[in-house]
Amino acid sequence: MEIYLDANATTPVLAQARTAALAAMAQDFGNPSSMHGTGLKARALMEAVRAQARRAIGASDGQVLFVSGATEGIQTAVLSAMTALRERLAGGAGAATTVLYGATEHKAVPEAIRHWNHLLRLGLQVLAIPVDGRGRHDLDWLRARAPGAGLVCTMAVNNETGVISDLQGISHALGGSRAFWLVDGVQALGKLDLRLRELAVDYATFSGHKLYAPKGIGLLYVRQGTPVTPLLAGGGQEDALRSGTENMPGIAALGSVLSELESGQVFQPMDTLAHYRERLAAALRDAFPDIVFNAPADVCLPTTLNFSVPGLSSRLLLDLFDAAEIRVSGGSACSAAKAQPSHVLEAMGLPAWQAAAAVRLSFGPATSADVIDAACERIRACGESVRASCLGAVSLPQADGAVPRLTRLVADGACCYVVADPAGGRCVVIDPRPELVESLAQWIRCRGLQLAAVLATHPHADLASASVALRAALRASVAPALTSGGGECCGWPAGVDRIDLGAQRLSRLTLPGLACDAALYVLRDDDRRCWVFIGDAWPAAASGCGTPVAHDALAAAPWLPLLAATVDAAALLLPAHDPEERFACTLTNANGPAQQDSTAIDRVALQPPAVAALLETRSDVVLVDVREPYEQRLGQTLAIGDAGRRWAVPLSGLVEALPDLLALPAQAPVLVFCRSGNRSARAAAALRRLGRAQAYSVAGGLALWPAAAAAGARPANGA
Ligand code: PLP
Repeated sequence: MEIYLDANATTPVLAQARTAALAAMAQDFGNPSSMHGTGLKARALMEAVRAQARRAIGASDGQVLFVSGATEGIQTAVLSAMTALRERLAGGAGAATTVLYGATEHKAVPEAIRHWNHLLRLGLQVLAIPVDGRGRHDLDWLRARAPGAGLVCTMAVNNETGVISDLQGISHALGGSRAFWLVDGVQALGKLDLRLRELAVDYATFSGHKLYAPKGIGLLYVRQGTPVTPLLAGGGQEDALRSGTENMPGIAALGSVLSELESGQVFQPMDTLAHYRERLAAALRDAFPDIVFNAPADVCLPTTLNFSVPGLSSRLLLDLFDAAEIRVSGGSACSAAKAQPSHVLEAMGLPAWQAAAAVRLSFGPATSADVIDAACERIRACGESVRASCLGAVSLPQADGAVPRLTRLVADGACCYVVADPAGGRCVVIDPRPELVESLAQWIRCRGLQLAAVLATHPHADLASASVALRAALRASVAPALTSGGGECCGWPAGVDRIDLGAQRLSRLTLPGLACDAALYVLRDDDRRCWVFIGDAWPAAASGCGTPVAHDALAAAPWLPLLAATVDAAALLLPAHDPEERFACTLTNANGPAQQDSTAIDRVALQPPAVAALLETRSDVVLVDVREPYEQRLGQTLAIGDAGRRWAVPLSGLVEALPDLLALPAQAPVLVFCRSGNRSARAAAALRRLGRAQAYSVAGGLALWPAAAAAGARPANGA
């Protein structure tokens, strides 16, 4: 089911490698340092793998050490070079003042440099070698600084983009420099014809788990005559350069991978991999016509595609691909959790949005054509889901789903709301944000709605400029009253008491203490549900609607009695800022410390066994899927409980569904789920805060739910 396209992060272990590792644990389990037969067999195996490794990296002499992975190899190389530099300095030989590393290196390199420079008190100046727009090192810059450099670090292939470094060019640029040269070869092993013997590389590091061997085994190549300072001292293994009993299962597995590399049976030739890339790129272009690829194919290995799609964040794309069970990553795996712009793409000078929205798709050289076929099909299904959800490029067909009546969009904790009348084809936007104008315009246009008003709850230059930009973007579908510039205060249409939006009515509350340019808006519907857009009129709204602070402030608000007389206690108050994702509060929801405690994630999130127990003992559980429609369309769901009690409530539509969720019988447990457990935990916590004590989320979401229970229809044309 799962299509794994994140090979630059790690790869599965090849079947042959697993067999070899098992044999090294069961039959051939000897310690290569033992002098008896069992040990000698292990040593013979280890030396055979070392010889294979030498051939794979094109090293005729020098040392090849077994280490735990590239990070360890990098530490050893940096420590060794810096120790030698210190000795050179002490001996009065040379005056290296700098360490140079490629601006697009994996974090392991600059972090190791800073660490050892600090620990060894060398005080060397650490400089990043700039790269050009294609991701290639600036060789003129390097040539100019090579004479003063003590250590130069350049990767062979970039892990985020697949850009291949010009190692020959770097070698020439270093010319007669005495600098040590470290090459991080992690992403090149098995994919690039590495001929270390032809280059003046001093150290090169490799990692088994990026090429179908297990985690915990790697290689460090050290050129003949280049100094090594052991990182680990002890029993004297690896010629006393790396002590510790060798990881024989890892070495055996790596040996089996290298055998496959030599035999050419399992790994695809470069032209086949290039063909795979073309097919994947074509599928991506079909799915996302506006896509931009972030590195030029002619300088990249074909196994990595790094791209961005205008209007679609990398978070959204990751959720989308994950829902289609295609595993990709945002930027590099290490920084993916932080959702920061990629330092690699920034160094290449790409626009900020491109560096922040990047997605990396990478496959290993043992990938079969069938996997690529299935991936292309699912990628196209992702594109259809995005179009059906009114996201992405504007020229595409309209949404196929029902138009939600109240939607919340969030940018950096600031909330914007869209109130829509699907039957009447109209909508009102409250508190638009400049960052959201494009997606708002797309949202409205794709659903064929007319913009009846753009309202602001409080004065803010951003709201004013976003309002103008939104009206301009939607020129053809703006209500006549708005085209002239937006009505009275806060965008409220002139001479109108209330805005009718089908089953919903929006009215404005001007309250004592609030100026003309600040207002509250009350939305009521035919089912007696009520929401109030409180904006920043709430004195402490920025610190979170419903917090004790807000409650105190509420009590002090001079207009409180009027609001309390206008709406009832169940009315949901929706803030303009919600950095803590509380979603809503009510006039009575003081949310003191005891209640807050009950919203702690460990109280809210149930582990799968507890979920199973809840479902077994209770027949009234309501399951709520808070993933967005573009994810829900792609199939996978929790195939548990009664389908009749399964609600699809995307987080963007939670505020609309809150009154109904809160009105469920008090004892009925509400079990919220999503892809990874994060969004559902926040939604369940919000429900608790609003008084539904029996709200839970599924810890780990669909990702951790037993595969047998996570089932559902694939997209119509999916695999
Ligand atoms: N260098 C590069 C280019 C990488 O891609 C990685 C892993 O992502 C590393 C170094 C670190 O490798 P390891 O996981 O073996 O420590």
